[in-house]
Amino acid sequence: MLVLWMLHDSLPSIRERGNSDRYPVSNARRIPQGEEILIALKVLPIETEVLIIGGGIAGCMAAIKAAEGKDLRVTLVEKSNTMASGCAASGIDHIWSYIPPIHEKMGYTIEDMAEDHRQGIAFGFLRKDLFYLVAGTMYERVLDLERFGLQFRYDNSNIPGKFRIVSQFHSVPTSFNFDGKLLKLKLTQEVKRRGVNIINRVQMTDLITTHGQISGAVGVGTRTGDIYFIKAKAIVLSSGRSNRLSRNPSGVDFNTRLPAPLSGDGTSMAIRAGLPIINIEFLSSRLLSPCGNYCPNYGDPRNTVQPAARITDDKGNVIVPRTQFYNWENLGKEKINPVEARRRWLEDRKIWRGGRASLPKRVSQGEGPFYLDLSEATDEEIDYIAWSIRNEGKGTQFMRYFEEEEGLDLRKNSQEYAGWANRELAGTAAKGLWVARDLETEIKNLFAAGDEVGGVPWAASPGAFTMGWHAGEMAAQRAMEEKAFLAASDEIPNVRKAICSEILNRDRGFYWREVELYVQNLMDFYCGDVRGEGLLKRGLERLEYARKATFKADNPHELSRVLEVMSIIDNAELVLRSSVERKESRPALDYRRSDYPEQDDRNWLAFLAIRGEGDGRYAFKKIPIK
Ligand SMILES: Cc1cc2nc3c(=O)[nH]c(=O)nc-3n(C[C@H](O)[C@H](O)[C@H](O)COP(=O)(O)OP(=O)(O)OC[C@H]3O[C@@H](n4cnc5c(N)ncnc54)[C@H](O)[C@@H]3O)c2cc1C
Repeated sequence: MLVLWMLHDSLPSIRERGNSDRYPVSNARRIPQGEEILIALKVLPIETEVLIIGGGIAGCMAAIKAAEGKDLRVTLVEKSNTMASGCAASGIDHIWSYIPPIHEKMGYTIEDMAEDHRQGIAFGFLRKDLFYLVAGTMYERVLDLERFGLQFRYDNSNIPGKFRIVSQFHSVPTSFNFDGKLLKLKLTQEVKRRGVNIINRVQMTDLITTHGQISGAVGVGTRTGDIYFIKAKAIVLSSGRSNRLSRNPSGVDFNTRLPAPLSGDGTSMAIRAGLPIINIEFLSSRLLSPCGNYCPNYGDPRNTVQPAARITDDKGNVIVPRTQFYNWENLGKEKINPVEARRRWLEDRKIWRGGRASLPKRVSQGEGPFYLDLSEATDEEIDYIAWSIRNEGKGTQFMRYFEEEEGLDLRKNSQEYAGWANRELAGTAAKGLWVARDLETEIKNLFAAGDEVGGVPWAASPGAFTMGWHAGEMAAQRAMEEKAFLAASDEIPNVRKAICSEILNRDRGFYWREVELYVQNLMDFYCGDVRGEGLLKRGLERLEYARKATFKADNPHELSRVLEVMSIIDNAELVLRSSVERKESRPALDYRRSDYPEQDDRNWLAFLAIRGEGDGRYAFKKIPIK
């Protein structure tokens, strides 16, 4: 960062400079003068009734539902490969849901669950209309997933249905714990089985509208650089979250459990199409994570490593205690008192969140080290935890590494809390598109699903499974209602082709990694855990420098990284601008302003929506929370 700043400050201003091609820039890459165009890009036209952008959980579910039993051309475009892409690339192990056969026996209603979520997870910032869609239909999706070949039932379970159901997000157990390692493979199989055209290795970059209605989209081949000009009658946008707004502790974007190809492309496309994005100022703060000598982190108490995991310090003092699983013997014999259960659960969450959140401060005071400690676990609990980790995002790799390379034994060896996790968008506070209750955006026939949608914090995989399914159904219906394709202008694909050709054929320019690091460091410094107007505005000025960077790519793969960095810049700008606008602090959502230290519910208990108005202008609107 410093190097780039020094470089920045030592160079003439951007206006004078105009183009870094004419100046000797340290890392500029040279191609021999006079070299001909390296790659002549083609424009490939495609027509499809339904287009799904992003083949993660939501995109696969949307494709399955859109194609099921209908005579429609459905195309799923994925930047990586649907078999191992997105947050669930190599598995997830928990899915929360309202589970009628269990929760009705407890006397726990879906309204109780919504209230748990509003108070303990969303801290008030919850779209209950979307929550009911997610919580109320997830059990049906679990039954679908079983039909797709995923295992949810276990002979040794004493829970009705032989499920494994654990406490994770709500005051009673609501999370299915399951064998999710093969999730993406199974979903891809089902997508293919329904005749969906999967196009892998294409990164979508632009939406096209005609008279306020969606008419197509543009993408770039990550291995060819070719431009995909896709006309569609209805589109589902499901490209997930953004993970790269801060520097990875390992120093390498791709050495993390957070998938690096998630660069906020959907948000970037949406804002350029004039759509509102909410909650983007709520960037999660850096937390220390259990990670041993290897940077990627994994579970925490109250999550994958429960029930037995605790957080302790080096002297054995317990900072976060272990949990207990629900005693299923009591099911049907005792009725839950939801208010009392919620009170106890909120107290427990305070201990967990408070303890974990205190670690960075303790370290800054010279305390520590701190550990994820499983020493009190029974053998049965250790087996359970190891199974859970193996099914959870990239956990198989951690376990192989821990056991085979570090010789680690979960019971004997504590994992140190160290490094820090990237700061994430989505997840915690649910940044994303503002959609109608049926998931349609303000652009007719454009729907959104999963992490792309704002308003349900920790919607996580249930949000993706259920919204994907619903958005797929909606998009298919609309496509069937539209008689003909709208005329989609070829202006956007041609502009995209010109931009990509220039980046590939330029003989000097910035390498994507330099600019990405510049932006990540900028975000850490100017938009840190405590923000102030002066720093935020200066950050915006500095961001302009990155926006004007003249990129250079030597091949289509590097070109796709450049396009990702462009999305990251768009996302960074939205975070900075929305942070200037929200004039309060909201610690529960990790949002702190030094110049507005108080939480101001009277003025700010509202979603803040930002929307582009063209020419670098933005408008804000507060949306009341109902
Ligand atoms: C390590 C890890 C573990 C997790 N474990 C759990 C868990 O146990 N339980 C749980 O409920 N949740 C879990 N989550 C969260 C959950 O996995 C996500 O919320 C969920 O996968 C979101 O689904 P999605 O379809 O919206 O996005 P994703 O599954 O992330 O999919 C987005 C897809 O869009 C593609 N894409 C992005 N940009 C473009 C573009 N420009 N063009 C084309 N394609 C593009 C991506 O490659 C990706 O395949 C976990 C998350 C992580 C990171």
